[in-house]
Amino acid sequence: MIDLRSDTLTKPTEAMRAAMARAEVGDDVYGEDPTVRALEERVAGLFGHEDALFTPTGSLANVLAVGLLVAPGQEVLCEASAHIARAELGAHGAVSGVTMRTWIHPTGGFDLDVVRSLVAPEMGPFFVRTAAIAVENTHNFAGGTVVGIEDLQALRGLADEAGVAVHVDGARLWNAHVATGTPLAAYGAVADSLAVCLSKGLGAPVGSLVVGSAEAMTEARVRRKRLGGGMRQVGILAAAGLHALDHHVERLADDHDRARLLAEAVGVDPAGVHTNIVVLDHDDAPGYVARAREAGVLVSAVGPRTVRFVTHLDVTRADAEEAASVLAGL
Ligand SMILES: *Cc1c(COP(=O)(O)O)cnc(C)c1O
Repeated sequence: MIDLRSDTLTKPTEAMRAAMARAEVGDDVYGEDPTVRALEERVAGLFGHEDALFTPTGSLANVLAVGLLVAPGQEVLCEASAHIARAELGAHGAVSGVTMRTWIHPTGGFDLDVVRSLVAPEMGPFFVRTAAIAVENTHNFAGGTVVGIEDLQALRGLADEAGVAVHVDGARLWNAHVATGTPLAAYGAVADSLAVCLSKGLGAPVGSLVVGSAEAMTEARVRRKRLGGGMRQVGILAAAGLHALDHHVERLADDHDRARLLAEAVGVDPAGVHTNIVVLDHDDAPGYVARAREAGVLVSAVGPRTVRFVTHLDVTRADAEEAASVLAGL
């Protein structure tokens, strides 16, 4: 089976397992795990921020980051199909008391005028106040699309004028960086906080980080523990992340090439495939998924008429070519 359902499905490589086995560890709730500390400092540095915090999931990273920027009863603005709106099971409301208003954008980005029209300033006892704007880059459900750095810089300007914060859900920001050549620090510079995943294209088994100011990360550490996310000798997992940063970032370009190959095979315009995700409109997505499975290729239906293919570390060039010929015949 060639598995194109998600880039979360990768299994740690032998070299990654060896790095995990060698990791120096300590109790991270005591702040004594040197490998976790090294990962947090490295990732903070990559984005030009003061500090970072290791979390078990990207969802927790987003919940902590947004919860630090938006007080209970305030709102975050985001795109309607953002992961924070659709795929975190309402955590921002259920756990943090944060409300949300959304805009719709076909490629998961934003129209600056629309965002401007949504931002609500402090209006005392009359209206919900906007405290933050969240942008997803790359955008998962829009098909791994990149939000360009100039657009993000313009959004930063708008946010500064309005006195609101910017959070970047960068679960796949590594893909945006490799696809565009935009330095990670440039993405860091437009954001008050970021969330990044090690367990998607980078191929680590577990782990994400919140990135932000030292003060915010101190509070995030308290809240992570409160939610049950304080982890002990977790340097074993942080070592997988460090290994992934050393070996699995630049190779994301291969995943992007393979995604374009699949797109061409199924008649999706490869120009719209920015990174490692291909979205195909099909009248009967579940039927397509079943036929692909019979032919040895696993893909997913992310809507009744939407099929998604995702390339990743465990899909070789030969796998992609074989999948392309299978899918082209469906
Ligand atoms: C995967 C993902 C996350 C985090 O998901 P977890 O499964 O909680 O690690 C957050 N944002 C986006 C855009 C994602 O694709």
